[in-house]
Amino acid sequence: MSDERFKLSELGRRFTRPTGALELMDDLGRAIGAGDEILLLGGGNPAKIPEIQALVRERLREVADDPKALERMISNYAHPTGDLPFRRALAKLLAAEYGWPLTAEHIALTAGSQASFFLLFNLLAGRSADGRMRRVLLPTTPEYVGYADVGVEDGLIAARRPVIEETSDRSFKYRVDFDNLALDDEIGAICVSRPANPTGNVLTDSELARLASLAKAARVPLIIDGAYGLPFPGIVFGDATPLWNEDVVLCLSLSKLGLPGVRTGIVVAHPELIDALTRMTAVLNLAVGSVGPVLAEPWVESGEILALGRRTIMPFYRDKACRAREILERELEGVPFRIHELEGAFFMWLWLPGLPIASAELYRRLKERGVLVLSGHYFFPGLDEPWPHKHECVRISYAQDDETVARGLALLAREVRAAFDGPPVHSVRASGGERSPNAKSPSAPERQAATAVLMIRPAHFGANAETAASNRFQSPDGNATDAASIAYAAPAEFDALADALERAGVRVHVLEGRETPVCPDEVFPNNWFSTHADGTLVLYPMMAPNRRLERRSDLRHELERHGYAVRQVLDLSGLEARGLFLEGTGSLVLDRANRLAFACVSARTSPEAVHELCARLGYEPIVFGACDRDGHPIYHTNVMMSVGTEFAVVASETIRERRDRERVLGALRETGKRLIAIGHDELRAFAGNLLELSGGRGPVIALSRRALDALAPAARAALAEHGELVTASIDTIETLGGGSVRCMLAEVHLPRAEPTPAA
Ligand code: PLP
Repeated sequence: MSDERFKLSELGRRFTRPTGALELMDDLGRAIGAGDEILLLGGGNPAKIPEIQALVRERLREVADDPKALERMISNYAHPTGDLPFRRALAKLLAAEYGWPLTAEHIALTAGSQASFFLLFNLLAGRSADGRMRRVLLPTTPEYVGYADVGVEDGLIAARRPVIEETSDRSFKYRVDFDNLALDDEIGAICVSRPANPTGNVLTDSELARLASLAKAARVPLIIDGAYGLPFPGIVFGDATPLWNEDVVLCLSLSKLGLPGVRTGIVVAHPELIDALTRMTAVLNLAVGSVGPVLAEPWVESGEILALGRRTIMPFYRDKACRAREILERELEGVPFRIHELEGAFFMWLWLPGLPIASAELYRRLKERGVLVLSGHYFFPGLDEPWPHKHECVRISYAQDDETVARGLALLAREVRAAFDGPPVHSVRASGGERSPNAKSPSAPERQAATAVLMIRPAHFGANAETAASNRFQSPDGNATDAASIAYAAPAEFDALADALERAGVRVHVLEGRETPVCPDEVFPNNWFSTHADGTLVLYPMMAPNRRLERRSDLRHELERHGYAVRQVLDLSGLEARGLFLEGTGSLVLDRANRLAFACVSARTSPEAVHELCARLGYEPIVFGACDRDGHPIYHTNVMMSVGTEFAVVASETIRERRDRERVLGALRETGKRLIAIGHDELRAFAGNLLELSGGRGPVIALSRRALDALAPAARAALAEHGELVTASIDTIETLGGGSVRCMLAEVHLPRAEPTPAA
């Protein structure tokens, strides 16, 4: 369906979709290559510490002058477990220093720790022979974004919220919430970064020991990602002890020593796991690179690698951390903020409680000013539950030179202040189909029920062959088959619905359908645009080429003609070229008041597009799977659920995965909705495809006659308590179009335009 030259496999699509890690690396790469001055407070690149650079230079000269070492470094394939002398030396060093009973058989090298996580997570989690899905548990988030997408299948990561301890009026610390950490047999491994990226949090020895004993009791390994930590490069500012035993998998790397280019990851684990890693590496890489191991071997042999951390690397970053913190605190004076305790790595994690814009928007504004930080929302892999905190944090690296850091922090503080002081939406730049730099403020007040809708009277309604495969609700051989009766029936049904709504006091704006291009589904405008209370008009990426033609350039003008203010256009249609789709409020069921976006995945609803939209609008995505009775994915979320101000109608049987079901229902319950359940028969009759609106006499619930007739008496009575039930018979549209009343209504949530002041 997309314009791609290469038709990728499922796995291919899985690994080429946009990921947080790619976006971050892309932004960094572009910033570095662009020549413009960019203050790089974003990346995970280590600092260029002169003493380390001098050591590397000296060692490279030594290798160049030593034919044997040079041969080992670049002329021979190493074993897939990695260079043996290096592994031997490392086992010896760790055994001597910490008393760990290690041999070279306990150590495997990889192409960087990112590669280690790919191998380990897929070895230890995923679907197992008995069909069960096992996951890697991140006991506290925020956590390293690089864990998010390494699974060859989705849903590999499960995560928990931490407890937030406010350690002073300007600082805080995340603690593992052990009360919320029961391990079930769905967990295949536990993983923590220590120090954590993005927060610099160092789990205490006792937290780590407790996690290790939980993991041991559950007979799963504890993976400790020590990329920044212990034993090397040792960027830990307080007291902490490294941990290893046969139930622990310790992942290390040469990157943060100052050698990210050599791509050397180190895994210390039970020999059985090392053997499995070796076999996978042989398939993936044949061998592991030897540049890093040969370069670093003498420092391991002599123990210098540990001393370098203590003597040079750790104090270097500790001093920078103190300076950066001082500057940031000064610059942010008067703004509500907290900085996570600076305990290690080289990041400051800034929390801005009550930030009036999403952190993704702050990131974009800063990028425009030439400052690159990272939006915190990336760092909650596996934590699907709504949590405003996710959108209130940014990660700032202080690894750059002090002047860059100081200038970047001053600009950051200025933008933060503007966000707190300014109106919810400002400096609108893009319009008319361009991508707007401004996402909506999460605090812009929005009612759930719109007082007005836009409808498009169909000029050429009919069954759409391009959408039939994914829409199991379409019945092309249904009751109204000949073209003449369809041409008569569809507009008549349309008018009946529009009249019924108007009678109930809903403002209905009707746009006439067009003669050309011929768009058989144009009666369902809610799929290609949505409107929002801050004046945002969103255009969506559509799967079917003939549905893309429904987008009309006169829409904005029509809305403005009716007195609405369109302040910005967020055009996501560019995602179509990448095969990513999101069909408006068909794919999304929005809880506008609580800023939750429910989305069931289908050919028409790509999780990546959901996340993109949510980041732009400051919504919390709740993405899940839902199938009809025959196991086919439900094409649009709005046929299986509807969210009103105080109620939600949900065909919960369609959500087959227990965790997904709990997530969806839990979020609805948490926001105080009364749940009205419908079954498969009601679903087929479009009883889920209803919409709450605001009418002249109070709330209105619009649904089709067929849907109303199918509703069980109890459900019907429950619904009637929440609004006047307004119906029309739209059989032809339902049968041939595979959509019902809700699909025909594009709510207008835009603000009214202010009258133009007299000149
Ligand atoms: N682990 C954490 C916590 C990281 O932040 C990073 C990279 O920034 C890595 C691992 C990956 O390091 P490597 O360069 O060894 O792949």
